[in-house]
Amino acid sequence: MGENWSNWSGNVESRPQVIAVPDDESTVAALVREAAAAGREVRVVGTGHSFTPVAASDGLLLKLDKIASVTDIDADAGTAWVGAGAKITAIGEPLRQGGLALANQGDIDVQAICGALGTGTHGTGRTLGNLSTRIAALRLVTADGEIAELSAENDPEALRAARVSLGMLGVATAVQLNCLPAYRLHEKLWAATVDDCFAEIDGLIAGNRHFEFFWRPEPDICDMKALNPHDGPPDPMDGVDGERVDHSYRIFPSIRENKFNEMEYSVPADAGPDCFHEIRALMQTRHPQVKWPVEYRTLAADDAMLSTAYKRHSVTISVHQDASLPYRDFFADCEAIFRNHRGRPHWGKVHNLTAEDFADLYPEWDAFLAVRRRFDPKGRFLNDYLRGIFE
Ligand SMILES: Cc1cc2nc3c(=O)[nH]c(=O)nc-3n(C[C@H](O)[C@H](O)[C@H](O)COP(=O)(O)OP(=O)(O)OC[C@H]3O[C@@H](n4cnc5c(N)ncnc54)[C@H](O)[C@@H]3O)c2cc1C
Repeated sequence: MGENWSNWSGNVESRPQVIAVPDDESTVAALVREAAAAGREVRVVGTGHSFTPVAASDGLLLKLDKIASVTDIDADAGTAWVGAGAKITAIGEPLRQGGLALANQGDIDVQAICGALGTGTHGTGRTLGNLSTRIAALRLVTADGEIAELSAENDPEALRAARVSLGMLGVATAVQLNCLPAYRLHEKLWAATVDDCFAEIDGLIAGNRHFEFFWRPEPDICDMKALNPHDGPPDPMDGVDGERVDHSYRIFPSIRENKFNEMEYSVPADAGPDCFHEIRALMQTRHPQVKWPVEYRTLAADDAMLSTAYKRHSVTISVHQDASLPYRDFFADCEAIFRNHRGRPHWGKVHNLTAEDFADLYPEWDAFLAVRRRFDPKGRFLNDYLRGIFE
């Protein structure tokens, strides 16, 4: 048996028989064929920043850290190919030099690009879909060790399944992303009471390309953030009075030094305010010991079969607890509220849903299962956790 593996927060562990760090796509294909012959399940791990056992493996665990280049930047077409293991933080500068930028990013940028895409990772912005909406094409090593390139032209159904698919259709080796011309962002940070925040939230969401807030239970304050494109140069008054300007990829990410566990649900956009107020009341009454903030973001609808924003504009609400403290009871109480609003859980964050629950929440659930079976009839890319939900 090999070494132990655990995710970032430490709430998921596994013991893969083999951990491999292939140099290139053909080695990935050979490793997948070997694993098939040995009857081993195959999982890929990005950086292990998911809080669910989506990357855990008892068989072969692949790390694609060496398949990480940014190539074929085409500023006119607005596209670039990125190696699946590239960390998001390493993509911004080469894209900028080629005149392009990612359309949106999440709170951190340390994830592997195909790890982030695999769970439908998103940022905030009423008109902006999750990162997977920007996939133009995807190269996969499939269950039989062959190479497939999926695009909207050659297999639109499979691409809608693959956009958010937790690595169940195959090992992604590279992704072609639809980008924007390189841009700078102006960041504005300020604090507001909950009442003031909700008195103006519709205007803030509509009036800023990116708006979000973190509500801190103590002292019951919202830390607000608005980002908008800016024509000026990076600002030498960096951070003064809560404002700064920089290249987009330098403004999006924050540093998360303290480890936590997290639950996040996407609820229909109209339900966002009520859902937040119920979570806040729950924390103030039943869970006053939880000091970690609640994050409130917006997410545009898309049509990926397993996107949490499938055909509905959404608000995403996340609750956190310190990684060293118990979180299950608190999260379960929050989950009851989220579910009451027909929320769909982030695929990389803690939840307690079953296959039956997902079938009820996702209109194209059966279509996804059919594509998964088409790509991987023997379930080589399933671990126990995924088998429990997707088989
Ligand atoms: C501190 C922190 C901040 C976060 N902020 C955000 C945020 O702002 N927005 C948000 O939406 N989420 C956020 N998340 C969640 C995080 O973005 C997702 O869980 C993401 O999937 C993690 O990326 P990863 O590279 O660690 O992937 P992993 O967790 O390692 O893997 C995720 C899934 O992708 C699969 N996978 C990875 N690489 C490949 C590949 N090459 N081919 C096929 N499948 C592959 C894995 O098998 C697994 O199923 C955050 C998490 C943490 C810990």
